[in-house]
Amino acid sequence: MCGKVTLVGAGPGDPGLLTLKGRRALEQAEVVVYDRLVSPAILAMIPPTARTIDVGKEAARHKVPQHRINQILLEEALAGHNVVRLKGGDPFMFGRGGEELEGLAERDIPFEEIPGVTSAIAAPAYAGIPVTHRDYCSSVHIITGHQRAGKPLAIDFEALVRTKGTLIFLMGVTALPAIVEGLLQAGMSPDTPAAMVENGTTSAQRRCDATLATLPERAAAMGIHSPAIIVVGEVCALAPRLCWFDKLPLLGQKILVTRPRDRVGTLSEKLRALGADVWEYPCIETAPILPCPAMAAALARLADYRWLVFTSPAGVEALRAELHRMGKDSRHLAGVQLAAIGTGTARALAAMGLTADYIPPVYDAAHLGEGLPAHGKVLILRAEIGSPALTAALDRRAISYDDVAVYRTVYQNPRSEALRAALEAGEVPFVTFTSASTVKGLLSTIGDGADLSRVTGLCIGEQTAAEARKHGIAVEIAREAAIDALADLAADAAARHDLLSGAAVL
Ligand code: SAH
Repeated sequence: MCGKVTLVGAGPGDPGLLTLKGRRALEQAEVVVYDRLVSPAILAMIPPTARTIDVGKEAARHKVPQHRINQILLEEALAGHNVVRLKGGDPFMFGRGGEELEGLAERDIPFEEIPGVTSAIAAPAYAGIPVTHRDYCSSVHIITGHQRAGKPLAIDFEALVRTKGTLIFLMGVTALPAIVEGLLQAGMSPDTPAAMVENGTTSAQRRCDATLATLPERAAAMGIHSPAIIVVGEVCALAPRLCWFDKLPLLGQKILVTRPRDRVGTLSEKLRALGADVWEYPCIETAPILPCPAMAAALARLADYRWLVFTSPAGVEALRAELHRMGKDSRHLAGVQLAAIGTGTARALAAMGLTADYIPPVYDAAHLGEGLPAHGKVLILRAEIGSPALTAALDRRAISYDDVAVYRTVYQNPRSEALRAALEAGEVPFVTFTSASTVKGLLSTIGDGADLSRVTGLCIGEQTAAEARKHGIAVEIAREAAIDALADLAADAAARHDLLSGAAVL
């Protein structure tokens, strides 16, 4: 049976600008054919089961020629696969999306097109340039500045200047002097505000403000490279006032986010929203102990317990899996009270339709043990090696409990010399740790004896920090054990880091 091709616009760089429909298509893909300008964070959304084909094009010389790309799409669809063709920005905006679909239409291959956010509009937007504004213009024009070798630009500059609209040139870095010359000769004022935006919507974004006449010189002085867009028009004058993105507290800061493999990157999303250049590193895996005779036995005599205590979403997941295996569901838990160490664990319960009866005011094992409203016996479902702080607190309060291991942490990371070198060289000044096991997971990748003196570990709590310190990592601890608090800590630490490095330069 013939497969299908879905052409998906990946947006300009910020992974948050991928559409919901595009994401869904990506998650269902069997084969993904992608380009150079697609962000790594979006590539990370491709399911591990899907095959990926990189047909990324280098400027000027094509890595994989277009006719070959068309052929790959055709072959994969004919082989019956669900193919996603992932392209930067919007596929039809100078993206040859139309050409790719023509080949499929000829052969009656089913296809779909999911538009993307184009860099032509999003890069100016992130740079504080609204492409239209009632006070300045009544049209916007998007033009390719791509120049065929040895040929003059095929642009009608006089027609463009007559529109008095905002002009946006893509692929124009090389031809910038010729574009400016063309507009000046067509009578545009040399004082017209103009700008370039490089790596728009990513944490490496840079804006160059100028006038039409000074743009080539300013851009050269800043060393503006592709991918960049050129914007010409009165609206560029608004950039210094409207440039919200430049003000983000973590802009350009490199942060390594260590996390469990199966947990979606909510921390990464929060850090990216603050402008950080996030390097996601899934370094641990939690594996439910299944079947789990100890848990099954405890669940069979659940009436003995007054409280069921969870210290992580993984514990809740292990319970769900065991109940399912036993042919039961959450109704089995009626009559027992539920405690969660923090909001993340409470959310995992909520996903099962359950409400946590108790969450400690401070999200850690010690406060959970101390604050649990004391009456009756407690069943703790948690990791193989859980924090002793919880059971110590219960012991002190003479509350009886059963501590059952329901999942274990697995470290199976390939050695990465590149990651070790980057951390040793101080290229990634911050690493977030959400548990002591993420510290161990990272160490299992970079190997023992690494010099981590240039790394600051942003830790979710005391225990995590203690593990990081063991490896010579300087630590800062979130005000409470929650992802929001960790994101705030990152913003704060990065701001202080900037001040310090500023002082070092002086
Ligand atoms: N289909 C894409 C454009 C492909 S042409 C889209 O809709 O965005 C490639 C050109 O797009 C680059 O030469 C550059 O001019 C522009 N571009 C793509 N991503 C960009 C980014 N993040 N910042 C600035 N310009 C970008």
